[in-house]
Amino acid sequence: MLDQHTPPLPETKPSSAEARALLRALRDPREQRSRLVVTSVAVLVWLGIAWWLWAICGWVCAVLTLIGIGVFAGTIDALSPHMVRTQGIRVGPDQLPTLYHAVTQCAERLQLTAIPDVYVLHETVWNAMAIWLARRRVVVLYSAILDGILTDDSAHQQLTFLLGHEFGHHVDGHLDRMHLLVELACLWCPWLRRWHSRHCEATCDRIGLYCSDSLSASLRVVAKLMVGAHLAQEVNPDAVLRDWQQMKHERRIWRYIRSLEHFPLLCRYVELIEAAAVMEVLGLSVAKE
Ligand SMILES: [Zn+2]
Repeated sequence: MLDQHTPPLPETKPSSAEARALLRALRDPREQRSRLVVTSVAVLVWLGIAWWLWAICGWVCAVLTLIGIGVFAGTIDALSPHMVRTQGIRVGPDQLPTLYHAVTQCAERLQLTAIPDVYVLHETVWNAMAIWLARRRVVVLYSAILDGILTDDSAHQQLTFLLGHEFGHHVDGHLDRMHLLVELACLWCPWLRRWHSRHCEATCDRIGLYCSDSLSASLRVVAKLMVGAHLAQEVNPDAVLRDWQQMKHERRIWRYIRSLEHFPLLCRYVELIEAAAVMEVLGLSVAKE
């Protein structure tokens, strides 16, 4: 248990039919397709493994092994819970109010019944992550990326983009047991796993954009990841679009992209602009500023 005085969180999922419809609208259509493909492949792989186990050690062994794998898949912690609890600070109503304000805005926008625990850790890497920690849903923010964001006028919107992206991994089921089993089944084909992962990340960028309610602040975060906090405000979106248009049909570029679990930052920048236009058509408009 992370905190014996804190009851386990209810499931961090959108709380109503309306909220679930919102999540479906925000989901990148490519994620929907890739999820169908990887799930179908995973079913075949697990059936193959079950048949193989049945052939070599009988059905009791096969069932017990598969149940064991299923249980094991949901119990792996990406970080040490003790390290996070003792080296970091947990965000709350009376702790780090700037961040807590952003956390509550994301939860309201996504209509969540329960908010993941959010921790800040001192780290020089510009990163944030959504993870399970001691059977609780957690988002960890590294101090370096917060330092880069908090110097800006639009810091609040940038924080909500960052948090919204990480909340997106929780609410869209990217850390659910079934998703982990699908990923496990696709280990034999890294290309397939990375293809699906890229589209999951694209969905989370859309969710972050929706939470921030600001296209320019969301773009600023991606620009900071590319050129750092000081130069980000000078990044020209039109020049980025032009550069991407020139390179997006190059085979070598796509060979490189297929080796990644995220779309590259230039591509994410352009996709945020395109996502804002799509969301406007869907009635989920996001402020341009
Ligand atoms: Zn992500």
